[in-house]
Amino acid sequence: MKYLGVICAPGAKSLSPDFQQAALDHLRLEIVYEAWPTPADGLATRVAGLRAPAVLGANVTIPHKEAILPMMDALDDVARTVGAVNTVINREGQLHGHNTDVEGFLRALRQDAGFDPGGRRALVAGAGGAGRAVVVALIQAAAASVTVINRSFSRATKLVGELTPLAGDSELHALPDMYASWAASAAGCDLLVNCTSVGSAGTLEETESPVPLDIIHSGVLVYDLVYLPAETRLMSAARNRGARVLGGLPMLIYQGAASFQMWTGREAPIDIMFEAARKALAIASPKGGG
Ligand code: NAP
Repeated sequence: MKYLGVICAPGAKSLSPDFQQAALDHLRLEIVYEAWPTPADGLATRVAGLRAPAVLGANVTIPHKEAILPMMDALDDVARTVGAVNTVINREGQLHGHNTDVEGFLRALRQDAGFDPGGRRALVAGAGGAGRAVVVALIQAAAASVTVINRSFSRATKLVGELTPLAGDSELHALPDMYASWAASAAGCDLLVNCTSVGSAGTLEETESPVPLDIIHSGVLVYDLVYLPAETRLMSAARNRGARVLGGLPMLIYQGAASFQMWTGREAPIDIMFEAARKALAIASPKGGG
């Protein structure tokens, strides 16, 4: 028997064990995928355990994606640029760190929303790990401009400062989290992405929106990375204002599918993964929100 797992915060609910195990079982692979809740001071011990021959690798989620990076023996370019690892592969005791969030974000945007960010103007709420992966993805896809607005302005300016040298023809801007910033940048934008945790189930901001709702116009695609609940306040308000909407579930599945392929060498059964994740979401959010 071989093992995989997701390294997450103690007490956190991850959907990865549900949809990854369903995919492994569907292909009759003798691999168990577990949740590995880990406190910050237990991360080094957890990482040491990944070197065991029976462990194929791991996913990594909040709050460990950045902290685990220096513990890797090798990194791919995307993980290095984003500064975060969400997938670890154990190659004969050597740990290789990858980041499949960038690929998952773009695949969902193109495949599920039919939106190509090339040459388009994007507004990104949030400058944490997900915000950084999204800005890297939008640069990779040659977006015309990306404006980052974050509660902590210094984090937005740091992100933009670090990624500008890699941005090619994409213009990057950071603005403070004030109504005037949202209004000025929303007017000309084609894509608005929520990369904050505002709207997530189980947080104090579960019923709130990370952006002022009256700045949303009908020509914008609103992409909320939050997947629980399946319909956030931001998404329902955007729909009411005539905007198109994409939730976080497809990105979650596609980043996991890319990890699955790396560990097993097999193509991930996407439909099985979606079905298992939707079932788990319905249990986690019985009101119908997910
Ligand atoms: P993170 O590194 O902890 O960053 C959190 C972000 O949310 C920061 O920008 C933070 O602003 C902002 N924030 C938190 N509380 C806020 C509040 N009350 N008001 C305004 N802004 C607030 O987390 P992350 O890894 O970037 O993840 C962010 C979200 O994306 C999470 O909900 C996560 O589940 C989701 N996500 C989804 C996928 C997917 O596959 N769908 C993948 C990755 C992440 P400050 O900098 O000011 O603290």
